[in-house]
Amino acid sequence: MPELLPQRDLVVVGAGPVGLFATYYAGFRGLDVALVDAQSGPGGQITALYPGKLIHDVPGFPAVTGADLVAGLVTQAEEYSPAVLYDTEVLGIHACGGVIEVTMSGDRVLRTGTVLLATGVGGIRPRPLPFGGEWYGRGLSYVVSDNEEHRGHNVVVVGGGDSALDWALQLRPVASSVTIVHRRRAFRAQRSLLERASREGIRILTEAEVVAISGNERVREITVLASDGSIEVMPAETVIGALGMRSSPTPLIAWGIEVDHRRAIVDSHMQTAVPGIFAAGDGATYPGKVALIVAGFGEAATAVNNVAVYLDPEAELMPGHSTDPELTPPDHAPRGGA
Ligand code: NAP
Repeated sequence: MPELLPQRDLVVVGAGPVGLFATYYAGFRGLDVALVDAQSGPGGQITALYPGKLIHDVPGFPAVTGADLVAGLVTQAEEYSPAVLYDTEVLGIHACGGVIEVTMSGDRVLRTGTVLLATGVGGIRPRPLPFGGEWYGRGLSYVVSDNEEHRGHNVVVVGGGDSALDWALQLRPVASSVTIVHRRRAFRAQRSLLERASREGIRILTEAEVVAISGNERVREITVLASDGSIEVMPAETVIGALGMRSSPTPLIAWGIEVDHRRAIVDSHMQTAVPGIFAAGDGATYPGKVALIVAGFGEAATAVNNVAVYLDPEAELMPGHSTDPELTPPDHAPRGGA
């Protein structure tokens, strides 16, 4: 028998920025929320791809790193104590008779009044190096979460995309040396990042592949094979695989949701074709859609306010403000202004 978790008003699927903000906002609207994500922590694509990168188009923050933005969103989301289920994959969503049943990995079932899909581009996982998996967590990693873990290390980054250059540049100030090993001569990464890498003394080996990783308790050295057949063994206490991501699209069609280019089609309430199932962020689409974090925040607020009305048709769509005239005794009415 599957484990039946306590029933909720809203299940938010996806703990990226949009899902985190939706979780906060739903708590603020007095809803009982569960936040579910297949990854082991919050942040979705930001955490997986560019936690150290500065983001310049979040209102109120001239520049904020992805990691700082996610940290702030997590603090905000926790304000109303939602149930948070990481390492949890949503396997099925079935709407029946006003209740939606969400089946999840670990043989768990959660009943809820509504679901908000904030699933972005779907599940993403780093593409692993073709060998050396046994070193994962012992010097081999796919994401840099804390620069300090790599202080004084000889760092080798494998790959030629933006992530490879980002990680290399991020670690340059703390590492003893940084080398990028890329299998081709041409890079996918932005030219400006490559120029910066050269200026900052990052060694770049092209038409070369890492063919072996060795060490004892931890990674100690790697072997690089160049296209001319030459072999170089170099010290490396950190190896970062930046070979891109594997994505597994959210199975929206199986859940009865109408899609356009793998995105859930929503109406102006952010509701999908299935009553009670809403969507926001990169995984939702409508005419004029703009895939920006800031647009996703607005969609999350629209979705949650409509969720509140869906659950209780007597509820106000707008949550109201403490300065609203009907909430203010006549002798305390504000003297103008908002
Ligand atoms: P990516 O652009 O797909 O680059 C992956 C790199 O890994 C490629 O250079 C590829 O080589 C190499 N590779 C793949 N399999 C390999 C193998 N088996 N052996 C050796 N090399 C292998 O991935 P990404 O850098 O993670 O970027 C993903 C997306 O996120 C991109 O659209 C990127 O622009 C975006 N992103 C943006 C930012 C930013 O704006 N700050 C930061 C990070 C990522 P080939 O080139 O030969 O195929």
